Amino acid sequence: MSLKIEDLKVYYCMRRGDCRAVEDVTFEIEKGDAVGLVGESGCGKSTVAFAILRMLPSPGEIMGGHIYFEGEDIATMDDDAIREFRWTQIAMVFQGAMNALNPILRVSDQITEAMLKHNRELSKDEAIEKTRELFKLVGMDPDRINHYPFEFSGGMKQRAMIVMALACDPKFLIADEPTTALDVTVQAQIMQLLRRLSDELGITLMLITHDLSVVAETCRNVIIMYAGKIVETGAVVEIFQKPWHPYAQGLIASIPSIERSRDQTLASIPGSPPNLLDPPQGCRFHPRCKFARDLCIKEDPVLLEVSPGHKAACHLATGKIKDSKWRPGKEVALL
Ligand code: SF4
Repeated sequence: MSLKIEDLKVYYCMRRGDCRAVEDVTFEIEKGDAVGLVGESGCGKSTVAFAILRMLPSPGEIMGGHIYFEGEDIATMDDDAIREFRWTQIAMVFQGAMNALNPILRVSDQITEAMLKHNRELSKDEAIEKTRELFKLVGMDPDRINHYPFEFSGGMKQRAMIVMALACDPKFLIADEPTTALDVTVQAQIMQLLRRLSDELGITLMLITHDLSVVAETCRNVIIMYAGKIVETGAVVEIFQKPWHPYAQGLIASIPSIERSRDQTLASIPGSPPNLLDPPQGCRFHPRCKFARDLCIKEDPVLLEVSPGHKAACHLATGKIKDSKWRPGKEVALL
């Protein structure tokens, strides 16, 4: 097992109250796997990533739970240990490559600085040589390492950010919306590159995105979050063919398909995500769910296995409530 998260709880504690950004989040990622963490903006997916790296922006705080990486609990590491751990074990490709690089420093200086900080045995020349090798690995001309970020296109900046994340040979890579603001063809190239790096270097990949089609192309498994909680998780193929949770059904039915007839409208999920300062009681999806019953308002459904490796958190999936219109599958959202 590479990463194991148990009952993770992260709050942003503010004067107005506690924003319950992540609650009861439990999942495991096998070594070498490629997993997509998916959901609408504000569902807690980036918060999970920042908690894994212990880089939560203030006033974010881990309020409970465990984050085990190869058996060690990141949530309880002291500051020195976490500084050593970050980038050498788990690294992150941040959102917004356009602005993530320092515009007044050469790209090579920014990358070698990270290498030299984490590996005191490495000389400056060796760090430069390693940067050249990594440039080749991500399909860039190594002679461009001394260029400034403004001399790079959006796609090249994103590749440079991936090089920076790989600078200290991490075993686990988190990519947070790595294709935001890139055009579609460059998006496809970046996703192919991440998948290739994961396969060739044996790096475990966690891809954070709101775009399910990106997950379908890149990942083997998917975790779907809604309002700070996991609502469904399992193999990509299985969840795309047979989603159980009404939110997952809506998400998947809303993906445009060339097989659908032209006059068939795309499904949409009515309403908007809840305010996590005061989330709904019971199932957090109940104000938007057409199958909601009294029990959904009273009792929060737990994440239970519906088939081997496939889990969903819904009272319909566990049989506690029944509805003749509901069944597993994406067509339900279109009815
Ligand atoms: Fe809808 Fe109830 Fe299932 Fe929540 S538990 S998704 S409200 S049916």
